[in-house]
Amino acid sequence: MYDGCTITESCSLYRRHLKSGFGPQRNDPCPNSGDRLLRKGDRCPVWIEGVDTRGVYQRKSLRTTSWDIGERILREMLIPPPAAPVVPAQEPDKPQPITLSAAIDSFTAKLQGEGREVDTIRKYQLLFRELKEFSAACGFSTVAHLTFERLVAFKLTWMLKEKDKQRKGINTATKNSTG
Ligand SMILES: [Zn+2]
Repeated sequence: MYDGCTITESCSLYRRHLKSGFGPQRNDPCPNSGDRLLRKGDRCPVWIEGVDTRGVYQRKSLRTTSWDIGERILREMLIPPPAAPVVPAQEPDKPQPITLSAAIDSFTAKLQGEGREVDTIRKYQLLFRELKEFSAACGFSTVAHLTFERLVAFKLTWMLKEKDKQRKGINTATKNSTG
C-alpha cells in the first residue's frame, strides 16, 4: 500500500561536508558539518537531491563548491523539458478519417485550380454527387470505406443509370465514344 507520500518535481541543494581534510592533521571533518544548507564560507561540494521534472530521482554532486552556481544549475535542471507536452495533441498513429465530402471538395478545388474545362468539372461533380448518394445509401462517409468492392458496385449503379439516360435519349457520352 502506498503510504500517501507524493513524488513531486522538487530538488533541493545541500552541502555535503567532507569527512576529512580539516584540522592540523588534515583528518578532521569539516567544522560546518552540522549545517547542510550553509551558503557561504565553506569549500565542501554542493549536491542536489530530489525528483527532477522528468520524474527521475537525482542525488548527485554538482561539481561545485559555490552555492550560487549550484542554484543556477538547479534552476536549469528544473526547467520543464521542451516540446514534450506540446506534441501529444495530435496522434500521428491515428490519422483522422478523410470524409468523402472533404476528399471530393479538395479534388474539385484541384481541378478548378488546374484550370480544367468547366464541362469536365461539371461531369466530375455529377459523378461525385452520385457517389455521395451511393455512400449515403450504403451507410458510409469516409474514403477508407470506399473499398474496391464498393467502387465496383458504384460503377455498376453508375453504368445502369447511364444506360437508362441513353435509353431516354439523353446523350452524356464523350465525343470519342463510339456508342
Ligand atoms: Zn563543509
